[in-house]
Amino acid sequence: MKWTPEAEAALKQVPFFVRKRVRARVENEAHDAGRDRVTLADVKATQARYLSGMQSEIRGYQLDTCFGPSGCPNRAVLSESLLARVETVLKAADLLSFLKSRVPGDLKFHHEFRATLADCPNACSQPQIKDIGIIGAAVPETTNEACSQCGACTESCVEQAIATAEEGDPPRIDTQRCLNCGQCIRVCPTGTIAEGWRGFRVQLGGRLGRHPRLARELPGIFNEDQTIEILQACLELYKTRSRRGERFAHLFQDSDFDDFSRRFCGTDI
Ligand code: SF4
Ligand code: SF4
Ligand code: SF4
Repeated sequence: MKWTPEAEAALKQVPFFVRKRVRARVENEAHDAGRDRVTLADVKATQARYLSGMQSEIRGYQLDTCFGPSGCPNRAVLSESLLARVETVLKAADLLSFLKSRVPGDLKFHHEFRATLADCPNACSQPQIKDIGIIGAAVPETTNEACSQCGACTESCVEQAIATAEEGDPPRIDTQRCLNCGQCIRVCPTGTIAEGWRGFRVQLGGRLGRHPRLARELPGIFNEDQTIEILQACLELYKTRSRRGERFAHLFQDSDFDDFSRRFCGTDI
């Protein structure tokens, strides 16, 4: 759906935490009206309807993704399957009823539990400021295939995590620097660098607002089942401790991070 520059500018004025929903609503309503172009009038009409009906729009959680599924070439993972599972867990938790039972007065968008998926470490969906942020990871490994010394891997790595080796040897990957974006895997023409495994990094407890804090990342890379287990543990902690609708990010303390690290990563902090 095309947008006029005025419509795009108006959308930028919408608070960021509802912008995605407003954009989707505007496009749906313009489409239903038989148009293929969104104008300023469309944005204003939808925005007015959206804000006046805010109570009915609140569903207890916000689940965002990056634009990876729309065809971004940087994807380290295909997260569609995990996304569906995350949504199922969030729906089953019935966070709307939970919030209604805990929050005095009207519910607002800022009460909702926030989760997001990003398909690579570029993290376009801002996992660092969500209650739970999930980031796709493709872990590179060197194989026995001969390296042609083409240099494509070192050029592709913006983290400077790959050092060229002596002729005949595979390059060395610095695992401390590597962010598991998978770019080097994609560009290697010989298979000398291949995907070892893929999974998800998990960051917990990020927030904006009056006391912003970046999420902390659990050590390790998790498969889908483990990621879902972590999400369920977050929801359990949240529902146990949130007495008046306090955000997970406010409740999740350093001691909880240590506990999660031991539980899910076998790591003593
Ligand atoms: S997070 Fe990565 S895969 Fe997703 S839109 Fe951004 S660059 Fe593309
Ligand atoms: S996966 Fe990404 S960060 Fe890691 S070595 Fe390859 S290009 Fe560099
Ligand atoms: S590992 Fe692959 S991309 Fe890197 S120099 Fe060797 S052949 Fe080229």
